[in-house]
Amino acid sequence: MKLLALPALSDNYFWLWHNDQAAVVIDPGEAAPVLEALNRLGLELQHIVVTHHHKDHVGGIAELVQHTGALVHGPEHESVPKPCQVLQGGDALEVLGHTLEVLAVPGHTATHLAYFAASSPDQSTPLLFCGDTLFSGGCGRLFEGSPQEMLASLKVLGHLPANTQVCCAHEYTLSNLKFATHVEPNNPATVAHQAHCEALRLRGEPTVPSSIGLELQINPFLRTQTPGVIASVLAHQPGLDPHNEVDVFAALREWKNTF
Ligand SMILES: [Zn+2]
Repeated sequence: MKLLALPALSDNYFWLWHNDQAAVVIDPGEAAPVLEALNRLGLELQHIVVTHHHKDHVGGIAELVQHTGALVHGPEHESVPKPCQVLQGGDALEVLGHTLEVLAVPGHTATHLAYFAASSPDQSTPLLFCGDTLFSGGCGRLFEGSPQEMLASLKVLGHLPANTQVCCAHEYTLSNLKFATHVEPNNPATVAHQAHCEALRLRGEPTVPSSIGLELQINPFLRTQTPGVIASVLAHQPGLDPHNEVDVFAALREWKNTF
């Protein structure tokens, strides 16, 4: 299987996963870049997989279905174009001979889903399509869910195998790492990854996919139990209970909103 990040809109990636004949696209917020890639690579689009209902993730679906007849799979929401196979956490979705394990990850939206593909003979590393839940160095904003829900969702993702490739939906890495290095100035992994990503962006290359193992080292939103992150959050918001991880996470998320 091959994996391509199609840059689109202002800073989105639409993930195209294919076997040189048939393809799956995740979160196509517009049709044109997907149609161009299908045409260029000679691929037949069979499945459209949706993580959540925001326009920049579903805006291209109707046009893609019209052109390709691809099947749509995603969460229950009026903004996801119909017909759509409605999925929820615990479901398994079969695409191109592979199983995508459906994970419920509420927080950014109430019905946000993530999709995990285990490694297999023709997929050497596991893959995670996580939409706007986990980003490299950060996490999505809480539009419909509580800090408690988002923290629980991120923990589900953090427990996936360390070599899982994290295919998130936006190129937010440098801005996230600016915040991450502010929160953890003495974390050498974050500082080193920031330099690496700056070089990638100068060459116009994506900073993703990341991996779960790397995110556990650099992403403050997966590190709300580490002393450095707790101390920083406490300095930003004195009076917080450092033993209440949900409160630490909530304060960290609010801090990032205004950083
Ligand atoms: Zn979103």
